[in-house]
Amino acid sequence: MAQYYVNLLVKLGIVRFSMLLALALIALAVVVQVTITLVLNGSVHDNDILRFVIFGLLITPWAVYFLSVVVDQLEKSRQHLTTFIEKLEEMRFRDMELNRQLTYNVEQLNQEIEERKRAEVARKAAILSLKKEVHRREKAQLELAEQTALLRSFIDASPDLIYYRNEKGKFSGCNKAMEDLTGKRESELVGLTPWDIYSKDIASKVVETDQQVFDNNVSLTYEQWLIYSDGQKAYFELRKLPFYSQDGFRLGLVGFGREITERKRYQDELEKVNQDKIAFISTISHELRTPLNGIVGLSRMLLDTRLSCEQSDYLRTIHVSAITLGNIFNDIIDLDKYDRSKLELVSQPIDLLDFMTEIENISGLMAEQQGLRFSLDKITLFPPSVMLDATRLRQILWNLVGNAVKFTKQGIVNVVARCNVKDNIAHLQFDVGDSGIGIPLEEQNKIFAMYYQVQQEENNLHAVGTGIGLAVSRKLARLMGGDIVVDSKVGEGSTFTVTLGVPLSEPSKDIGIIIVEQIPLKILLVEDIELNITVTVDLLEGLGHTVIVARCGKKALEILPTTYFDLLLLDIQLPDMTGFDIVKVLRDGNVSLPPLVALTANVIKDKTEYIARGMDDAISKPISVSAVVDVIERLVMQCHFSKEQTVVLGQKRLNNNLYATLLDLEMLSSYVDIVGPVPVYKSIIMFEKLMPEYLQILGSNVIAKDQRSIASKAHQIKSAACSIGLKHIQKVAQKAQSPDLPAWWENITDWVDEIQASYSHDLGVLKQWLNEYKK
Ligand code: ADP
Repeated sequence: MAQYYVNLLVKLGIVRFSMLLALALIALAVVVQVTITLVLNGSVHDNDILRFVIFGLLITPWAVYFLSVVVDQLEKSRQHLTTFIEKLEEMRFRDMELNRQLTYNVEQLNQEIEERKRAEVARKAAILSLKKEVHRREKAQLELAEQTALLRSFIDASPDLIYYRNEKGKFSGCNKAMEDLTGKRESELVGLTPWDIYSKDIASKVVETDQQVFDNNVSLTYEQWLIYSDGQKAYFELRKLPFYSQDGFRLGLVGFGREITERKRYQDELEKVNQDKIAFISTISHELRTPLNGIVGLSRMLLDTRLSCEQSDYLRTIHVSAITLGNIFNDIIDLDKYDRSKLELVSQPIDLLDFMTEIENISGLMAEQQGLRFSLDKITLFPPSVMLDATRLRQILWNLVGNAVKFTKQGIVNVVARCNVKDNIAHLQFDVGDSGIGIPLEEQNKIFAMYYQVQQEENNLHAVGTGIGLAVSRKLARLMGGDIVVDSKVGEGSTFTVTLGVPLSEPSKDIGIIIVEQIPLKILLVEDIELNITVTVDLLEGLGHTVIVARCGKKALEILPTTYFDLLLLDIQLPDMTGFDIVKVLRDGNVSLPPLVALTANVIKDKTEYIARGMDDAISKPISVSAVVDVIERLVMQCHFSKEQTVVLGQKRLNNNLYATLLDLEMLSSYVDIVGPVPVYKSIIMFEKLMPEYLQILGSNVIAKDQRSIASKAHQIKSAACSIGLKHIQKVAQKAQSPDLPAWWENITDWVDEIQASYSHDLGVLKQWLNEYKK
């Protein structure tokens, strides 16, 4: 009803509805009043109706208002209700949504819980395995720590240096040996660079080699002197290699160093022994050459005398043999050159026919002595002159003929010579054949090896040989552009074939004996070997000069200031000093001098050394007329010098008294007079204590060939010796501290040895002197 009412109100509008309502109310009022009145009164008057209408009219607005308010309220309520319902609906919807969400979340949660449960199980399993892993690792770490400690003790126990540096060249670690070397603990060393711990020279080498390792990413081995913190030098073989992390990044380098000072010392000693051997050979051959020079000189002089043809032939052979022997001695001196393949050829124009006659003469003599027949057959024409080193070819042929004679008991030794000229080159071939024991085929190549000899049970003929000849001969032949081959049959004989290709040359001029007219000169010959003196004096006097002979350096230095000479000929090896020593004294005298010419037993290939050491020129012994004439022409005739010149010479005579020789008595006596003997004695004791260390360091510097350090240590020793008046030690140390001295390197070991050997003795002498002086 209410809804109907409301709908009507809405439908009709408030005015029409009110009017309708008023009419309805009036009608109701009328009806109700009339009815009531009728019931009560039994009749209805007009007034009643009017009253009913008026009542109806009065009541209607209130009713309308009341109803409108009710309707309005109802409507509002309805609207509220609708809104509420909507909201409810919305809420219900949201609720549903939430429910759905909730359900979903619950599902999710359930899932998560499931997963978490699973994860928990997995976690527990993982924790278990982790625990196992931790345990395993702990065990491994323990083992590792043990291994590391073991390794560390190995590394520390190693006498070799072990260290590692990072990419920046800074030390990252080292072993005990390295600590000992540097004098720094590992913890102090870490972070330092080689520049911080080594001297500049050493560090630069170390850094340079580090760089090579880094640049090329390869290991490197080299040798270097290092210095211990106490100053002692040691020679190390160092090996450096890059090291990497597990993932392949280079972390730096690891270095190992093995001290090889002893090895180096032995090597040096070996070298020295070798040098001594060569020096010995040189000296021996020098000694041999002296009489040989006499044979050469005298035989040449004899050749100028009247002789029969036969005598002349023999003499020529003697002469040539002696010259060749001299050349062979030169080879012996140059022995080391064989090893270093430094043999040099001196090619000169040679008359081949003369050469072969000479070979024939000597070979004939050799064969004859063994009861063999000898022949040399020239089966082709030969050019008059070719360029070759006759000494070397002679050496080859004599060696082959010598062997042929040696290995042939009976029969013949024969040389066949042939020549074929093509394009100005003479192709020479010499077949040296014999009817001797022959050489087995399998040995034929081996015999050209150095020191190889065919082992023969029956004929121990090679006992007289060395096994060098063929090796050297082949080397020489090949050096001359040729070769030597052998063809042999055991029991039938051997043929050695030498082939050479040599250029043709103009025939050489036979110089012979030059008769030269020269202005007579006054010459001082400083020479000690009688034979040489005879030969040289004869030759010079033959040229019209006057010769004064001094047989030792001292004599020469005595004669020189008092006598004028136009030329000085100085032998190099004299009993008391060398020719160079004399020249030095003379040059130091600072006066003008006549030309000074060295006479040397060696072959002169380069005169610069003689000139550098003060000579004006040098001539080889035995001196030849042409060489003397040449020197006189070049030097004497162009040299103007005054006769008034004097040479201030003289050598301080040493007092033979031991004290005076070994001690600086002047200084010592005034020292003792001023301070008394006790401080001097204390200084002596201090010197005595210091010397072993000084000498050890000096010795290591000598082995290290460290010139600067040798000089500086020697200087310390000199100063110390000087302060207690050890004159002899001071002098020797003075030399050792002066690397500019000539032949300093050659002498330094001797000087150091001399200090080492004599300082205790000298100290004893000093103490003795001090005791006597005190008294
Ligand atoms: P050496 O003769 O001093 O032993 P060589 O180098 O001249 O040294 O010779 C090497 C070896 O070659 C000889 O020891 C010898 O065994 C063998 N030989 C060289 N020449 C002959 C030869 N004419 N007949 C037989 N054997 C030879």
